[in-house]
Amino acid sequence: MSTCIFCRIVEGTIPARLVYQDEHTLAFDDITPQAPVHTLVIPKRHVAAVQDLGEADQALLGRLLLTCRKGATDKGLAESGYRIVANTGRDGGQSVFHLHFHVLGGRHLGWPPG
Ligand code: 5GP
Ligand code: ZN
Repeated sequence: MSTCIFCRIVEGTIPARLVYQDEHTLAFDDITPQAPVHTLVIPKRHVAAVQDLGEADQALLGRLLLTCRKGATDKGLAESGYRIVANTGRDGGQSVFHLHFHVLGGRHLGWPPG
């Protein structure tokens, strides 16, 4: 069994509210939502962070963004808009080291972020 919490969600050993999945990506609701819609989009393969991606991951990156789009659209955000965030490393505020995009929406989001 994996020690990574998001790998365990991929394996199904930790439950999550699934939004969408395809062969390589998974979208599920964040356990501590920061907005009316707060979905996380991850690769099924363990990659720690954006910083660990390389040239060989171009197709995966494209697929991840399309899954963000799909999740946002299915949650009704196509018209109102949304934000996609990938916190990366210490200063980025990353707390789970399995690459994920936050998809946030359903309220106006302030800028700049904290
Ligand atoms: P980060 O801080 O790394 O950018 O984001 C990690 C996110 O994962 C946080 O928003 C946190 O609420 C979420 N999270 C942490 N553990 C779990 C879990 O077990 N299930 C789900 N669905 N979300 C989680
Ligand atoms: Zn993992």
